[in-house]
Amino acid sequence: MTNRFAADKTLGTLAKWLRILGYDTTYEAENSGNLFFDSLEDNRILLTRTKKIQEKFSTRRSVFVRSNFLDEQLKQVVDEIGINRAEIQPFSRCIQCNLIIVEISKDNAYGRVPDYIWETQEAFNQCRQCERIYWPGSHAERSMEKIKLIFNSKSTNSTN
Ligand SMILES: [Zn+2]
Repeated sequence: MTNRFAADKTLGTLAKWLRILGYDTTYEAENSGNLFFDSLEDNRILLTRTKKIQEKFSTRRSVFVRSNFLDEQLKQVVDEIGINRAEIQPFSRCIQCNLIIVEISKDNAYGRVPDYIWETQEAFNQCRQCERIYWPGSHAERSMEKIKLIFNSKSTNSTN
């Protein structure tokens, strides 16, 4: 989990999805321009759809994202960076705040999630910043499906 990303302002959905996969991802629209570009100093991989920006930061590792479509964008990043299914930590990070979520007790979640969720779930995590509570089912099953899809259709040139 060493890769970290910085997504330019046109790539909000991609940024959200990298967070779903567990990657620390800053997003330009959430920072002032300077703060965002400062975050690149942190060895982040720049994700951009603008050639000019890529050229401006040509000493940085970057991905020039070609597609308009999320699935293709994700696949491009996964392929170019060489991300393995085994390396991702899906649903470990707050999608909104980009912070690692931490486990809280079931008692702590009481009254703060829908009753049927509290009754049927055992494990709860929370973002310390926005206080949103996550549980295993809180990410739509669709998300799991998409992750499977991205990694199954990954064009590999590995030896096995
Ligand atoms: Zn949060």
